[in-house]
Amino acid sequence: MADIIKLLPDSIANQIAAGEVIQRPASVVKELLENSVDAGAKHIQLIVKDSGKTLIQVVDDGKGMTETDARMSLERHATSKIRSAEDLFHLSTMGFRGEALASISAVAQFDIKTRAIGSDIGTHLVVEASTVKEQEICATPVGTTMAIKNLFFNLPARRKFLKSDPVEMRHIIDEFERVALVNEHVEFKLYHNDQELFFLPIGTKRQRIINVLGKSYNEKLVPVDESTDIVNISGFVGKPESARKGRGEQFLFVNNRFFRSGYYHSAIQNAFEGLIPSGFHPSYFIYLEVDPESIDVNIHPTKTEIKFEQEKAIYAFLRSAVKRSLGQYHVAPSLDFDLETAFDVVPLRKDQEVKMPTIEVDPEYNPFESTERKPRQSNSDWASGQRFQKPMTQNWESLYENLNTMATPDEQIQKLELSGSDDQTKVRQIGLRYILVQSEDGIFLLHQYRAHARILLEDFETSLSDHPQGSQQELFPSTLDLSSQDAALMASVMPTLDKIGFQIELFGQHSFIIRGIPSACIELNIEDTLLGFINDLKENKPTDDAQLRDRIVRSMAQQTAIKSGRTLKAQEMLAMFRNLMRCKQPQYDLNGKPTFVLLNSGTLDKLFEA
Ligand code: ADP
Ligand code: MG
Repeated sequence: MADIIKLLPDSIANQIAAGEVIQRPASVVKELLENSVDAGAKHIQLIVKDSGKTLIQVVDDGKGMTETDARMSLERHATSKIRSAEDLFHLSTMGFRGEALASISAVAQFDIKTRAIGSDIGTHLVVEASTVKEQEICATPVGTTMAIKNLFFNLPARRKFLKSDPVEMRHIIDEFERVALVNEHVEFKLYHNDQELFFLPIGTKRQRIINVLGKSYNEKLVPVDESTDIVNISGFVGKPESARKGRGEQFLFVNNRFFRSGYYHSAIQNAFEGLIPSGFHPSYFIYLEVDPESIDVNIHPTKTEIKFEQEKAIYAFLRSAVKRSLGQYHVAPSLDFDLETAFDVVPLRKDQEVKMPTIEVDPEYNPFESTERKPRQSNSDWASGQRFQKPMTQNWESLYENLNTMATPDEQIQKLELSGSDDQTKVRQIGLRYILVQSEDGIFLLHQYRAHARILLEDFETSLSDHPQGSQQELFPSTLDLSSQDAALMASVMPTLDKIGFQIELFGQHSFIIRGIPSACIELNIEDTLLGFINDLKENKPTDDAQLRDRIVRSMAQQTAIKSGRTLKAQEMLAMFRNLMRCKQPQYDLNGKPTFVLLNSGTLDKLFEA
């Protein structure tokens, strides 16, 4: 019998190997960006056409390659990064397998222009399916430009399995973000179909996170910092109130490499115990540094799991580091998502006049000028506006009961004694949800969430009607991926959104790019606001533009208002009080529920009649 075993030609072997490394356009993006970072680039541009299906181009100003290196770089197992197996344990670069360029060139049309530092002239290579088609000298700046055209052109089955444009683009953005979040010392730009999606200037880690994920993160981040013998932990976690139900922004890096770990995720989640409701997940950006010898990254190229020698110890350090920063920044234990109504309030009559109380406040100080952005509210949050529905008489009873049972009359009087002269003693927060303000007219008790929602509602209404077209260009347009049902709903309200200053474009089938937002919303997390708003619309569809506009404003106000459970400073409470009193309708919240109650001699007399 004749021998039947043959070696596969290189080009086929490369194609097979490519299948492991290059699964979709995003894998190319990851490999090219990592190569540019490894080459010491300070500026990296990623240019993508049709979600990478037509073109993926990376332009860097790194050290470039000589003519020989450029040819060599396409060979399998050709790498400048390790020389011996031993080197694998001291990796400081992202790449080391020497497989990426060989794999990419096997499955695409590949165009490389590169010039090494110190060379006068550059090299231009055109490669197709592992074959060099052209090689010439060329004029090009120091650095490297790689263009990958028509990925999988020679593997039609594979090309057919690529997902829709928005899905592939989402993968590309994910990879881009993972590289950008650890390389804040490098400037990145991302263009898709000639539109700039990201511009990330060089800055601090915190600035990078904010530039990548949106301005809302500025308010949400709490720093984490811990050094031990086996691990250095740095980075940020999101404040508990920014936790979400769905997949949030969760990033773990070790030695500047993104990785996934359910184990460390639970360490972080654990540190939030008692601070966030079950089913919610905090966002985090955690950077671990360990001895490179104590981890194993030499695993499957596309896997993002990493083996740690000291897994358990790191778990414990991570958990306590996060716990400590939550405590240090006073975000711990003040949150209370399941509020009990301990103390009901009595509203003013609608016709009753409210006198401006005389309180000296710093007129410049307004902590609510930059309100915290809130995550999409859960149903229970929306429901919080629906409480306090007991009949009036019962309100009085429970107020009285509280005075009786919670403390002795003496203690109670002490608590209510607000006769001091500084701000501190004129306001008090009660149960993290009511604000007590002493004025000459008596004692005002504000419901913090409702009062703030009323203030915001009127703010938004004014800004929207003052500048009907006022729109603020988003520096970093965000994208919104919706289900087809939600996308259809969104599309139907887009013309109205446009009128009040949103600039939203359909992008693919179910995705939207938000390019501009009403000036009144610049402080909001716009993605969350729109998502909350869409959910809101699903429940009852507005009939005309005015109604829709009203809905948007309400939705924005409800979502951004400071919720119960948040500790407020004296000045914040005073500002809230002052702003509420300036409202056209200070007494009622968006659902017609009382925002405050005034205890003056008249109401007190009634109270004591009972
Ligand atoms: P690896 O990154 O694992 O070494 P690659 O196939 O990704 O393997 O790259 C092969 C080699 O090509 C690299 O080791 C590097 O020397 C060179 N190279 C790749 N991209 C660049 C770039 N943008 N600038 C300079 N050199 C590069
Ligand atoms: Mg590489």
